[in-house]
Amino acid sequence: MINVEEIRKDFPILNRTIRGRRIVYFDNAATTQKPIQVINSIVEFYTKYNANIHRGLHTLSQEASELYEKAHEVIAKFINAYSWDEIVFCYNTTDAMNIVAYAWGLKNLREGDEILLTIMDHHSTMLPWRNVAKMKNARIKYVDITSDGYLDYNDLENKISDKTRVVVFPVMSNVLGTINDVKRIVKLAHEVDAIVVADGAQSVPHTPTNVRDMGIDFLGFSGHKMLGPTGTGVLWGRRDRLEEMMPFKVGGDTIKDVTLDNVVWHDLPWRFEAGTPNIAGGIGLAEAAKYLMKIGMENVRQHEKELVEYTLKRFEELGEEIIVYGPKNPLDRGGVIAFNIRDLHHHTVGKALDLFGIAVRTGMHCAHPLHYRLGLKGTVRASYYIYNTKEEIDYFIDSLNKIIQLKEALKNQPVEEVCTG
Ligand code: PMP
Repeated sequence: MINVEEIRKDFPILNRTIRGRRIVYFDNAATTQKPIQVINSIVEFYTKYNANIHRGLHTLSQEASELYEKAHEVIAKFINAYSWDEIVFCYNTTDAMNIVAYAWGLKNLREGDEILLTIMDHHSTMLPWRNVAKMKNARIKYVDITSDGYLDYNDLENKISDKTRVVVFPVMSNVLGTINDVKRIVKLAHEVDAIVVADGAQSVPHTPTNVRDMGIDFLGFSGHKMLGPTGTGVLWGRRDRLEEMMPFKVGGDTIKDVTLDNVVWHDLPWRFEAGTPNIAGGIGLAEAAKYLMKIGMENVRQHEKELVEYTLKRFEELGEEIIVYGPKNPLDRGGVIAFNIRDLHHHTVGKALDLFGIAVRTGMHCAHPLHYRLGLKGTVRASYYIYNTKEEIDYFIDSLNKIIQLKEALKNQPVEEVCTG
């Protein structure tokens, strides 16, 4: 059990009001709020230790380097990596996925190889591989979903072959909320000697992650979606896979030596962390991971499970007015619920909820192919985290009820066509 009341005290922003109402923040799949411990760790770094890392012999630089390296150790512990140097700090999941696609893909793919993506992939995982496939004359195939919002494992079995070199998938979908069966995917991929690249953007912040147990080859996730600062992300790779990669963003800090016709790359992970990194961000991210470990990731998962179960139950009161996407069974989904109000544009609902001080995301959530597959122009997405409560969900349902009552008037409102990715 987690003590939400106590947790909420650590998040200063939750006291903010929007149009006179205390904010209800349900946009956690986009980014999460930051606890005071994370904010303080950044202030402390800049107040006491700020210097560039790995370059100076002076005390400040050595202290900053030590703090930054220790941050890698904390993240290794958080996901049960074998060693801290398998942890590459980067800027977000998008960056992590680009690093793998270019650094592994450009070096190891050959003409005619196949890359298996899923129709529920985020653009951040889909597009880097599509670019690299073009450059290497490799072929992309997409695994479909079933009508009830699960990955179609039969389709996966049909599409995987001896030509498949890479299998990419989200551990949890940022739209459907579906939690995919990692071990089943890994088994099929490894049977044909394909590597497995998992997008952990929506899973790592919300559920225990054990990369050894998962059996995957690479995992990317975003620090800013797990209480850490924006501009922080992580690529974890199994050591032998990281060794197979050619550094693709290169420059300062990626090398041990450079002559005019040769370069000796630095040890892991530095050869993949080019230039001055987000030092304060990395330290803040480690503080976020410590905060989550103190709560316990099992407890985080349990809390969100209860919130989702409660929401789906309360949604039933809205009857035909609401259409919910993704698996019906709350146990098969994470803390993300995408829905539409019948006959209302998703942006209209999002704007109306904002008037009640409720922050949700509307649009296609960087998953256009998935929305097209579902025949949708967009959805409203509520996504939860450790500081959300059932009382907030009650208020959310009340607000949706009011919006439904005003439907006829709202239908005629001009829709602001904002691009939401
Ligand atoms: N993958 C998934 C499943 C996501 O939900 C997101 C963020 N919406 C990303 C990748 C990209 O994350 P970031 O914007 O931090 O790179």
